[in-house]
Amino acid sequence: MVDSQKILVTGGAGFIGSHVAGNLTEHGHEVTVLDDLSGGSLENVPAGCEFIKGDITDSKLVDHLFESHKFDLVYHLAAYAAEGLSHFIRRFNYTNNLIGSVTLLNAAIRQKTSRFVFTSSTAVYGTGQLPMTEDMVPRPEDPYGIAKRAFELDLQAAAEMFGIEYVIFRPHNVYGEGQNIGDPYRNVVGIFMNRIMRREPMPIFGDGKQTRAFSYIGDVAPTITQGGFEAKAKNRIFDVGADEPVSVIDLAHMVAEIFEVKPNIVYLAPRNEVMHAFSEHSALRKVFGARENTPILEGLRRMSLWARAKGQHTPTPFTNIEIVENLPENWRRLMQ
Ligand code: NAD
Repeated sequence: MVDSQKILVTGGAGFIGSHVAGNLTEHGHEVTVLDDLSGGSLENVPAGCEFIKGDITDSKLVDHLFESHKFDLVYHLAAYAAEGLSHFIRRFNYTNNLIGSVTLLNAAIRQKTSRFVFTSSTAVYGTGQLPMTEDMVPRPEDPYGIAKRAFELDLQAAAEMFGIEYVIFRPHNVYGEGQNIGDPYRNVVGIFMNRIMRREPMPIFGDGKQTRAFSYIGDVAPTITQGGFEAKAKNRIFDVGADEPVSVIDLAHMVAEIFEVKPNIVYLAPRNEVMHAFSEHSALRKVFGARENTPILEGLRRMSLWARAKGQHTPTPFTNIEIVENLPENWRRLMQ
């Protein structure tokens, strides 16, 4: 049992962050959530957390928050994680996901925060050998992955220079209750469920044979939470998520089955993306022990109950696309 700690969770009104903030309050910690609500919602913020609406790139706000709260720990999950869209919003991507992260780290160093837990992504690997393992040389291929990798390196440099501890998680394809299903650019599971509820076809880029290891939130969030406290995790990087890859086309069929509809799929031109991605997680198991591995059909069923109760969302288009050249046609249409 750890004494109650003062903890900042950025992105705590979002999907993974709200589950982590919930785990932390259940363990008796004093949690402050900082989120600008660009992708999350107030109803996600767990009861018992202090909520501050604000932007992680706002250095005045961030500095003031750290000065007034003197956080023991930081869980940094705020980001705009639309990997495919990041090619077309490069400036926003680096400002939000890299400069925002550095803004928090500066304040954490000054206020002697002991540990900084960061959710990077398996997007840092790019197209590499499979399964992905933490000892591979990362070769990110899109601005989202590049920003994540850049901040991993910055965090490591800060640990070396200033002694702040870090734990980096690289989650992959997390789905479940609390996910934003109204974002048309990311979260394929949520997009499929929302489309079915809107009686619209499920869009698939290419032939749908690309594979991802879709990971249930209830299996992922507790490990990230533990990352703040596990001594053996100090200054380490861990892939976190499910072991079994599933193709996007199989996923579409599973979601349709759970919603008891015939799969209605629209095939779009392939986009520039990694074809296969899965990790083997032995480093994670060694440090964090055996973890839950919820079967995908069960995880999808749980998410579908939540999604049905919430109802369909009108997709919210991103308003400041910076480059339209090569923007996939279905995203271009959202701009009109
Ligand atoms: P999410 O969009 O549900 O949550 C992110 C939260 O950050 C949102 O509530 C959003 O409002 C907030 N936010 C964004 N920019 C902000 C800013 N400038 N200032 C303050 N708040 C801001 O996303 P998620 O899926 O929960 O992802 C959480 C973290 O995990 C992200 O860092 C993401 O890159 C990483 N990650 C997620 C996945 C996944 O499969 N969901 C996979 C790999 C990595």
